[in-house]
Amino acid sequence: MKLDWSDIRRRTAAGEGVREAEALAMTALGGDELRALFDTAGAIRVEHKGNFVNTCGISNAKSGRCAEACSFCSQSAHFTTDAPKYTLKSADTMVAEAHAAREAGVREFSLVASGRAMTNRAELDTVKSAVSRIREETGMQTCASLGLMPKELLAELKDAGLQAVHHNLETARSFHANIVQTHTWDEEADTVRAARDLGLYTCCGGIFGMGESWAQRVELAMQLRELDVDSVPLNFLNPRPGTPLGEQAELTAEDCLKVVAIFRLVLPTKDLIVCGGRSVNLGQRQDEIFRCGANGVMIGNYLTTAGRDVELDLDMLEKEGLVIRPPPHKPHAPSLRAAVRAEGTDANGVT
Ligand code: SF4
Repeated sequence: MKLDWSDIRRRTAAGEGVREAEALAMTALGGDELRALFDTAGAIRVEHKGNFVNTCGISNAKSGRCAEACSFCSQSAHFTTDAPKYTLKSADTMVAEAHAAREAGVREFSLVASGRAMTNRAELDTVKSAVSRIREETGMQTCASLGLMPKELLAELKDAGLQAVHHNLETARSFHANIVQTHTWDEEADTVRAARDLGLYTCCGGIFGMGESWAQRVELAMQLRELDVDSVPLNFLNPRPGTPLGEQAELTAEDCLKVVAIFRLVLPTKDLIVCGGRSVNLGQRQDEIFRCGANGVMIGNYLTTAGRDVELDLDMLEKEGLVIRPPPHKPHAPSLRAAVRAEGTDANGVT
């Protein structure tokens, strides 16, 4: 299939994602045509997001001992790994981590807990308390990733001040059973729909490099478009020893950039955040993610692995001419270094 780049650019600039057949054709590109894909995706990122970049950070609020068996995850009790195991942190600890993340440049902060779903009343109340305080004290966008949550519990969290829900589909519907047998793709999607129906900002993506085909990567992009999520975290598998995917290593840096670019053109107006596996899979080419369409990055540590030095990430954003987007409930955008390092009041008005 011959791709008409000027027509693709016109349609995606208008907010219309490319057709599935076009996205599939993009997966096979190399040479000058691949350059055209990257350049188009980078331009469409600027068209819809300007030079703003989302920065998110997480607290691994509860780790390990999970009864589910997701093949990529070192926190499953089904696998023998060196992932930390602990019960839910106190609200004080989570709030302190949020303050530290804000100091480092993070503007969206997520409390992430292992387990199928957080339905325990005491745990839920602790998270609600932490969410309220983080929103009040830091002004960051509050997010939680608590598993397959029912709508009524998400509504409780929203009432406590939660603004966003993170829940990944992990992979395309047609490949999900290869990766997870303890719950279904449709259960994952139901959590995302519940959050969306409550008016919460939905952050929902997947992991690449688990053995899925390029067609299944496009399938996931189309399914995310159908779910109309707000933000798509793109994770690249960092194989964890002891998990069924512990020996899996198949992505090149170019593959990762191609994923970013295709997702930008399928989902031209959405937030695209590069998260886990960035350093391992992209190495020296990490700064190219923005030129290929990403408008966000996770800063600091991941769930069970260390992230890149925060200063290196801030340098990367500055070099790319990007500024951190403030949370939606805050009125004005800061300049990058001024917001993160200035003494006294920063451009978000938080001292
Ligand atoms: S991804 Fe979540 S649900 Fe799956 S094993 Fe890990 S902690 Fe459990």
